Amino acid sequence: MISEEQARKKILETVRSLASRRLSLSQALGCFAAEDYFARLPLPAFDNSAMDGYAVVASFCKKGQRLQVTGEQPAGRDKQLRIAPGEAVRIFTGAPMPRGADAIVMQEDITRDGEEIVINTDVKGGEFIRRRGCDLAEGQMILAKGQRLRAGTIALLASQGIADVAVGAEANAAIISTGDELVKPGEKPDPGQIYESNSALLNALLERCGAAVNSAEHCRDERESLLHAIERGTKSDILIISGGVSVGEHDLVKDALRELGAQIEIWRVAIKPGKPFLFGSFPAESRYSAGETPAAPAGSPQDQSVRPADKMPGRRTCFIFGLPGNPVSAFVTFLQFVRPAILKMIGATNLSLPQVPAKLAMDLTNEGDRPHYIRGKLERGKFSPVGRQESHALFGLSQSNALLRLDLGQSLKADEIIDVQIWE
Ligand code: AMP
Ligand code: MG
Repeated sequence: MISEEQARKKILETVRSLASRRLSLSQALGCFAAEDYFARLPLPAFDNSAMDGYAVVASFCKKGQRLQVTGEQPAGRDKQLRIAPGEAVRIFTGAPMPRGADAIVMQEDITRDGEEIVINTDVKGGEFIRRRGCDLAEGQMILAKGQRLRAGTIALLASQGIADVAVGAEANAAIISTGDELVKPGEKPDPGQIYESNSALLNALLERCGAAVNSAEHCRDERESLLHAIERGTKSDILIISGGVSVGEHDLVKDALRELGAQIEIWRVAIKPGKPFLFGSFPAESRYSAGETPAAPAGSPQDQSVRPADKMPGRRTCFIFGLPGNPVSAFVTFLQFVRPAILKMIGATNLSLPQVPAKLAMDLTNEGDRPHYIRGKLERGKFSPVGRQESHALFGLSQSNALLRLDLGQSLKADEIIDVQIWE
């Protein structure tokens, strides 16, 4: 069994960023920049008026001063107007400043009298002018490679005349849930059966991470079905298998993966919940062609119809995550191991869950043999554990919005300030 940190390190060393692509700005929300972007234009691009009003020479404007209106400057076309002391130009928000003017008087602060205005306020030089470059200088970095494109970043790129943007690839994923005891929501469970909920959980988590879900299928704890389901799943960049990775006789996933030629890098991690977690890959060149029956290893008990499987060069590597079937274990291992891997694949730089400081509501001690992720509610800066802290306890999970990692043997006191992880 390896530590949580070793597991994450191994996973992140193994997965690679996928090739980047270009998207129009309207499609790029939530993607990660594949290049650094620098300002081509200063913002504002030229001195302009912040108000609807009059452009004036400030030193000539006292309260009660009369000025001659000599022209009108709308936004959108620079009429190259010029004013002298004693003159004013009617101007609108965003319009370029007339030459010679050094302040704007708001229209609310004048009285119009034919072709003249009377100023009803004191005027300071520079007032209500947006200066060229005061927001953003030419050449300044506006977006670093690996940063997420948010609404504001997209607007900034658009303000630079940029219509499309290089972003990380979209990763796609397949989900397989396993277990004879499970039926899909909408079907009728026999006595002893329960509803299958991990597909719904994983689908939501994958979408939240920015991965597209290609397929979600359920599979009985049966070798043949599992081999075929896995084989179909390996056409995706990521294959997530829920359940069947533990040590019971019905936990067939690890053997099935081995049989199909997967490289298993990790099995069992010191994390609570989530110990049976598995990580591996089907390298691109070892992946089977669609429809090909996967071969059992020669000489194995299942070796009835052995034929060499076709290799598919050119296909991308499929990374496999075997998550424990207990819903909270699946949730925690997804956030700690699958999420950072996906973020790396789709080009993100920051792979960690956001951490925020919180005041702990009660004493907590980890008396177990593994680091423990406590599910809790973070409300107005206070973290309180919520629900049963057991790996099947889905209600508590559904009420939680933060995770507190309690290290081995760690004891925390009520009112201590601790960091908690959030995911939404
Ligand atoms: P396993 O990891 O397959 O040994 O499953 C551990 C526990 O999680 C068992 O109680 C299963 O019934 C439950 N479980 C496994 N898969 C799912 C699933 N997809 N949805 C809900 N519960 C599950
Ligand atoms: Mg099972």
